Amino acid sequence: MAQRTHQKSKVVIGLECHVQLNTNSKLFCGCPTKGEEPNTAVCEVCLGMPGSKPVLNKKAVDFGLMVALALNCKINEKFFFSRKSYFYPDLAKNYQTTQYEIPIGKEGYLEVDGKKIRITRVHLEEDPASLVHESGTKESNYSLVDYNRSGIPLVEIVTEPELESPEHARHFLDLLLTNLNYLGVYSHGEGVLKADCNISIKGSSRVEIKNVTGFKAVESALIAEEKRQKELIEKGEKIEMETRGFDAKTNSTYLMRKKETEEDYGFIADPDLVKVEIDSGWMKEIKAKVPELADSKVKRFVKEFGLKEYDAKVLASNKTLSEIFEEAAKLDSKLAVRFVSRELMGILNYNKLKIGETKVNAIGIIGLIELVKAGKVSDKNAKESIIKYVLKGVSPKEFLEKNNLLIESIPGGLEKIVDEVVEKNKSVFDDYKQGNSKSLNFLIGQVMRKMQGKADARQVQKVLENLK
Ligand code: ZN
Ligand code: MN
Repeated sequence: MAQRTHQKSKVVIGLECHVQLNTNSKLFCGCPTKGEEPNTAVCEVCLGMPGSKPVLNKKAVDFGLMVALALNCKINEKFFFSRKSYFYPDLAKNYQTTQYEIPIGKEGYLEVDGKKIRITRVHLEEDPASLVHESGTKESNYSLVDYNRSGIPLVEIVTEPELESPEHARHFLDLLLTNLNYLGVYSHGEGVLKADCNISIKGSSRVEIKNVTGFKAVESALIAEEKRQKELIEKGEKIEMETRGFDAKTNSTYLMRKKETEEDYGFIADPDLVKVEIDSGWMKEIKAKVPELADSKVKRFVKEFGLKEYDAKVLASNKTLSEIFEEAAKLDSKLAVRFVSRELMGILNYNKLKIGETKVNAIGIIGLIELVKAGKVSDKNAKESIIKYVLKGVSPKEFLEKNNLLIESIPGGLEKIVDEVVEKNKSVFDDYKQGNSKSLNFLIGQVMRKMQGKADARQVQKVLENLK
């Protein structure tokens, strides 16, 4: 696995990650999870009206179980939901329905940079509403509440404090999201991840940075907080156990409150929701839904296709990409490595695009590899066709055909053109025979021009060499 650069650090980090599950409806009511106008995707349940009764969304439980299994957790086959009491405008009920006493999964792990990070628990809970702070002018310092978010299903993943640096924490999150992507259970888009980050320097009190949104922000918040704590220790000051916030604009953490304890929330079992019991049939169904995950894929790609670990990791980091690769590798694994892990990945990175934002699929890439194998397309044009595929969505085959870029397969066609060029440029050809590489390039250029680019330069060079 990757290098362990975290060994010397005395920092200890634990994460509580919240990820939105991509169900169509909310966790305890039928409201859609994709509301547009503020406060339109709401009902008496998610607004906490007196007498309203919640009903658990089975799909969310399925997804939660899949996450727990993918993180190697033990499953609690019987569990229930509890009320976590707090008073704040983002929760109309004055409590959040969550799992406290018995989570859906416990005691799992995820291997990150060669170290097994233990997962304390995986549980389901509802998201609170979003608060929009309007602070444009002195006169308009107020907040708006949008309850569309209230009741959206989240899975919370809690790690033991075993991450060894902010970078290590980011790697953990990267791998976590890759796995969730393989499971197809999380909702893409803005604020896909919210994390509470616990960080301490060994021997000192723990500080919690609340509600950090996004991967990069988690790493930045941890870097800023590590620096703050180390500076305090150097000055001989004591680190207080407290809850802090992260300000992305100033890239620093600030004090929110002295740490509250879990008892302060007064958890109580929710009497409106029935206890859940996962029977063996349900469990079997869920197990069948958990696919091969990135980690095992990397190992298999290395073994099966002789890939370098780096290439295998890049491919496995994205489910769609790995599927395109596997399909293409059935045809030719070397060409699959070249066109998927090098060319395609390179073009995506250069254009800051994700595979999901393009029309690229396995059929298109296979079409190109077939043409390359048949010697019908030059390297340059093959690459060009992938660029067009990524940016314009035209399949390589269509692009090459339409632009007349396929190499003619008339027997002796290339040889004939090379002969003509040599005939016309005898002195250059003589120089080439003396070993002048500029002359070689000139001759290849002339042939390519005559062939209107529909030749493979290496092929041309071979023909020239045969004439020497
Ligand atoms: Zn609702
Ligand atoms: Mn939570």
